[in-house]
Amino acid sequence: KVEDEAFVTLATDDSYSLGALVLGHSLRKVQTSRSLVILVTVGVSADMRSLLSSVYDLVEEVGEIDSKDEVNLTVLTRPELGVTFTKLHCWRLSQFKKCVFLDADTLVLQNCDELFNREELSAVPDVGWPDCFNSGVFVFRPSDETYKALVQFAEDKGSFDGGDQGLLNLFFQDWATKDISQHLSFLYNMNSNASYTYLPAFQQFGKDVKIVHFLGELKPWKYIVSEGKLMKPSESQHSEDHLQYWWDLYMSHVEPHLQ
Ligand code: UDP
Ligand code: MN
Repeated sequence: KVEDEAFVTLATDDSYSLGALVLGHSLRKVQTSRSLVILVTVGVSADMRSLLSSVYDLVEEVGEIDSKDEVNLTVLTRPELGVTFTKLHCWRLSQFKKCVFLDADTLVLQNCDELFNREELSAVPDVGWPDCFNSGVFVFRPSDETYKALVQFAEDKGSFDGGDQGLLNLFFQDWATKDISQHLSFLYNMNSNASYTYLPAFQQFGKDVKIVHFLGELKPWKYIVSEGKLMKPSESQHSEDHLQYWWDLYMSHVEPHLQ
């Protein structure tokens, strides 16, 4: 086991935690050799934390505002940046040398430990604006210095989209042009709508996908399930097989343990 590298995700409530549980099990299934870490905030219940600790090596509480903490104090003046700031906490995991952040709405289909060969900041182009990277999957190096710089930057410049993606793209603004090795393949952050927006490509390359990202309003855990089957709302554009795999993991590894 590689002790100083980790996959990291984040959940601020119990429903995002369901996504994180499935993600954690998907990483175990592909036998990653790296540690699994989840950042949680006060919104995650005690029962949920104990479930999370059955699949994650480390469940780290973040987001408490400490009045003596100068860095955190700045957050108070920008309350709308709350969730943005929460993701930034991943840079404080300085017990690790290198990490891969994964949104709780991602799902790992194949082992992708080779991502740890990449440098900060490596990520996949965003499908909406490919000169920006999508912040659902990225390689980074924890560092208190970078964390402080990011918080200071957020305070000074803010985020052009109100979220972490706008902030991180401004901070790592040379990503688009600096080094092509920091552009990860789409296979590491496949927007699950791609089967609708570019079907022939999905048919050609879909089998090679390593990480699916269920981005957008409609998360897999919001689909209604009856007797182990998922009910797909008509407005859903998530690829069917990937959704089904999410549900299979959920039904076998998560649902039986919920009270
Ligand atoms: N997140 C969270 N609670 C929230 C919103 C977001 O824990 O209320 C975390 C979670 O890890 C999530 C990530 O932040 O996957 C980014 O948000 P989301 O995936 O909803 O954004 P999208 O990928 O749809 O743009
Ligand atoms: Mn996401």
